[in-house]
Formats: sequence, structure tokens, C-alpha cells
Amino acid sequence: MLDTVKLGRRPGSMRTVERVLKAPQRLGLDLIAIEEGSEIDLDLRLEAVSEGVLVTGSLRADTVGECSRCLEPFSDSVELTLTELFAYPDSATEETTEEGEVYHVVDDEIDLEPVVIDAVGLALPLRPLCSDDCQGLCPECGVRLAIAESGHGHDILDPRWAGLAAKFAVDSEPRKNLVNTNLVNTEAEEK
Ligand SMILES: [Zn+2]
Ligand SMILES: [Zn+2]
Repeated sequence: MLDTVKLGRRPGSMRTVERVLKAPQRLGLDLIAIEEGSEIDLDLRLEAVSEGVLVTGSLRADTVGECSRCLEPFSDSVELTLTELFAYPDSATEETTEEGEVYHVVDDEIDLEPVVIDAVGLALPLRPLCSDDCQGLCPECGVRLAIAESGHGHDILDPRWAGLAAKFAVDSEPRKNLVNTNLVNTEAEEK
């Protein structure tokens, strides 16, 4: 929470705020996030505008993730810029926007937590990688290629598996249709 009383309401008045927050909970996505209790550096500028308080600035925090390619844990950091308007309770913005579309100044205070949560969620990658050139896992045996011996591969396909693979390729299309039909039936029964 930051109070905006000292800022005043005269458009153009401005205040800079440097803060270190502790993440109140794990913030982020399934595979990558800022850990609970981890420090979030905020370097912000609060500016009074006619509709409310405009908050701009930057955020930096360490993140912990799991590589979407090789599944290994790794650490990284996230840095992003923020630009958010907090509308005054009696402003035109407040009156013309739906609930949840814009942040609000409440009792002369602004709550940065939802802003941070939303911004971090948007900035983090859906498919994080431990490194840009992560080689991932061997599609045949699942070994992590970064620790596999060089030239790891499976040139000679076991004839039993080859037979199964061919069968699966032929079967896969009708099998999908079968699943779809089952889903339709289940829905119909529930009604
Ligand atoms: Zn990886
Ligand atoms: Zn392999």
C-alpha cells in the first residue's frame, strides 16, 4: 500500500518511490514464478493526473523456474516496466469503466499488489527455458541431452517397437474420433 495524500491532487505533482517488497505469496505461472518471501525491487514514479494517479516505473525480482524442455529447475530474474492508472473515486474514468478494468485510489491509498501480480504474470514466459539453447530430453528414451554422452541417439529401432509405431500411426485417427463420440455421449447423459 502506498498512500497518495502527500502527492496531493494537483495535476502534475509527482513523487518517486523506491521500495523493496517481499512477495506475499508465490507470484507467477505454473513453471516459473517469484518465490514467496523473495524481494521485489520497485522503482516508481507517482504522478497526479486529472483522472487519478499514474504509476510508472520498473520492477525487478529473482525467479525460480522449471525448464519446459528438459524439466530441470533453474533460477532467473524478471525485469519489467509498469504503467498503470489508479482512478480517483469520483473521476470520469471511474464512472465509465467496468469493475476490474482499472485500478482505483481507495481512501487515498493505492494497492500495488494486484498491479505487481498482473504485470509479473504477463511478463513471465509460458514456456520457460533453462537456457536458450537447451537441448531438452531425448524423444526416444527421455534422458536429458545436456548430460547424455555426446552423439546420444537411437539409430537402430527395435523391430518390435517399429511394428507398434506403425500400428499406432494407422490407429491414431479413428481413435481420436472414438474419444470425441464418447465425450458427446457423456454430455448428453448429464443433461
Ligand atoms: Zn532446459
Ligand atoms: Zn535416448
